Amino acid sequence: MSLAACGEFGLIERIRAQVRERDDVLLGIGDDCCAVRLPPGEILLTTTDLLLEGVHFRREWTDFHSLGRKSVAVNVSDVAAMGGIPRTLSLGLGLPAELGETEFDALIAGVLGAAAEYGALLTGGDTCRSRGGLMIALTVQGSIRPELIVRRSGARCGERLYVSGTLGESALALRELLAGRTPADALARRHHDPQARLALGQRLAEARLATAMIDLSDGLLADLGHLLDASGVGARIEAAALPLAPAFRAALALDPSLIELALAGGEDYELLWSAPAEAAPALARLAAELDLGVTCIGTLVVAPGLEVLGFDGQPLRLTRPGFNHFSSPAE
Ligand code: ADP
Ligand code: MG
Repeated sequence: MSLAACGEFGLIERIRAQVRERDDVLLGIGDDCCAVRLPPGEILLTTTDLLLEGVHFRREWTDFHSLGRKSVAVNVSDVAAMGGIPRTLSLGLGLPAELGETEFDALIAGVLGAAAEYGALLTGGDTCRSRGGLMIALTVQGSIRPELIVRRSGARCGERLYVSGTLGESALALRELLAGRTPADALARRHHDPQARLALGQRLAEARLATAMIDLSDGLLADLGHLLDASGVGARIEAAALPLAPAFRAALALDPSLIELALAGGEDYELLWSAPAEAAPALARLAAELDLGVTCIGTLVVAPGLEVLGFDGQPLRLTRPGFNHFSSPAE
């Protein structure tokens, strides 16, 4: 059956019926606004991301469950990058009328499943028919004690730059898809079903182990550029230090130019942060505890701009924000 038969309120009811209650949510789906209590001493964080068919995803490459999960993860990733705690979600949907119920249910199951994993509850949204493609506009609200907020602007020269996890796999998967090939499962998952580094972001904030932080959505160079601009410092990073997964290294051995995907590919959803050198032992302990890679990729310097040393130790020539020959083809 197509969604047209369910009607707007049928669809909303279908969503509402799956959402549980929670003490801090005085009003959830069903009134004009949701009403949510924040823990004493915490302030509100709000972030929104759009996922548009043909721009951010293609229906033939992703399944609806992963799409729902991804729309939550990319939002929660922004909360993680502040050190915050996600609490509620608002889900705006533009739905083509020919979309099937099965697809709708898979999308909602993906959203609700990922939301539960990150501790967020769906408390509202809007549901409209789209005459174009599928559109998902997700807003996450979270909270944090104001003194713990980690901005983009706190980095100081002399500090080190760290990233979590590994870089470039999502972009490598996309490159395979664009070339008409099927990426290996693990690669495809990094692209279609990314994980937000929420526990890491919160722990870094609580322990004050990050002076500035950003999540990597547009590619390391572009996002690092934002952090440097906001902080008024420059950086030197080394290609040889970038954390790369075995599958990525294998591809890189065959085609050295793929390093561009780790530097500028985008959609890694890892965290990038700065910390003073003295934080290194605490960061190593945190990485072990969370079982997540934490890698120093360079240092912050007085001279403005970004210098990237290639595998031969020579500076790569790149012009920020450029070096994205990839400048994001659709999906
Ligand atoms: P209004 O017309 O007052 O904006 P709607 O009729 O659009 O209200 O929505 C009714 C209720 O259903 C609201 O509480 C709204 O937040 C919720 N809602 C609508 N669409 C969604 C959705 N896609 N996901 C979650 N809640 C939704
Ligand atoms: Mg409405």
